[in-house]
Amino acid sequence: MDLLTHIFLPLIAIYSLKKEEFSRIYFVIALFAILPDFDVFLGIHRGILHSLVFLIPLALLLLMLERLLRSEVRYAYTAIFFLFSHIFLDFFAGGVPFLYPIVETGIGVEFPMKVSFGSSVVIEDLMPRLVFITPESVHGKVFSVLSGFGVVTATIFAFIWLADLKFRER
Ligand SMILES: [Zn+2]
Repeated sequence: MDLLTHIFLPLIAIYSLKKEEFSRIYFVIALFAILPDFDVFLGIHRGILHSLVFLIPLALLLLMLERLLRSEVRYAYTAIFFLFSHIFLDFFAGGVPFLYPIVETGIGVEFPMKVSFGSSVVIEDLMPRLVFITPESVHGKVFSVLSGFGVVTATIFAFIWLADLKFRER
């Protein structure tokens, strides 16, 4: 899944939940939504940064840090939401190694349903199916960073946000 989708799909959710208090700081917090993909810099794609073994301690650390620094927890839950939204989206786009490196194999869901039109309409592979993945080396691999779906998601967010800004100016 591309970077724009990872940022803007959960951002639409957060914006609709926190419209009243939404400010530009949420754009910075949204970067937590792409943090897991930084595991490519560790040489493995969908590896340790996609694993609960890393994500749960990080979530606890964020909560503790904000509590310590600001004495109230205000943004950490949103950061954790963005972090886990990545895992949720990847679960439906190839799979997630939830317990890497304890368990190497990851799991996801795929929707293979197809329809073909000929002398009759044929529907195949109706049921969603589980897919299994193993984290793999990124050496020599090519990844797409943006997608049309990501651009559409970002555009929809921009549309909602700007429309609300305009509405508030009145
Ligand atoms: Zn990912």
